[in-house]
Amino acid sequence: MKAVIFGPLGAGKGIHCQRLQRRTEVEHVEMGKILRDNKDTETPYGAPREYMEEGEFVPDELVNDIVERVLTEKESFILDGYPRTLDQAEFLSSIADLSVMVYMHVDDETTIDRLTNRRICESCDESYHPEYKPPATEGICDFCDAELVERNDDDEETIRRRIAIYEERVVPVIEHYRDELEQITIDAERPYEEVWKDFSTAIEPHLQESTTLVG
Ligand code: AMP
Repeated sequence: MKAVIFGPLGAGKGIHCQRLQRRTEVEHVEMGKILRDNKDTETPYGAPREYMEEGEFVPDELVNDIVERVLTEKESFILDGYPRTLDQAEFLSSIADLSVMVYMHVDDETTIDRLTNRRICESCDESYHPEYKPPATEGICDFCDAELVERNDDDEETIRRRIAIYEERVVPVIEHYRDELEQITIDAERPYEEVWKDFSTAIEPHLQESTTLVG
């Protein structure tokens, strides 16, 4: 499966893709995490941190270069957080044949609630929310026992800027793929386990024959 996943911030793309990766051959390629892991790396365009802390996009050239290196020889992946501009989409079509697009929907109020209350694992980047997806032990990651922290671009002002950029730049990319790819749409307002059930049921036919995700 070669898939792209879209949806507003806080839709839960990352947590569902991580769960998919743990249970299948599909690799979750998350551009935001790759950039966070390399935020202080100096490049000809500056360090990613300079853009990320403002909620701005890092330059297309930089993310295109990353994605080309990361996707080399990957047979099965779900791309999360890329492409986010039409130029990135054009570049992606020159290096990979996509088979399906997943779209997870939530409203702006849900985005703000989920992101302002979100905590992430400082080690593996897994996301948590006190109501939507609480950790088993408060403040500690279920998977690697590391501490949960707030992301430094999850303050309300930066979130609102990220929503505006999403609407201006990413929505046209989604429209572009609507005409080109099979689309799976998920209502992501509902509780985490219900969303996972829909997501896994819709994805399963795209996986290798032997893979069972549902149940
Ligand atoms: P995310 O974790 O997906 O919210 O991404 C965090 C930040 O990384 C974004 O606010 C951007 O600054 C940057 N970023 C992630 N993906 C991209 C992309 N495809 N193009 C440009 N900037 C990106």
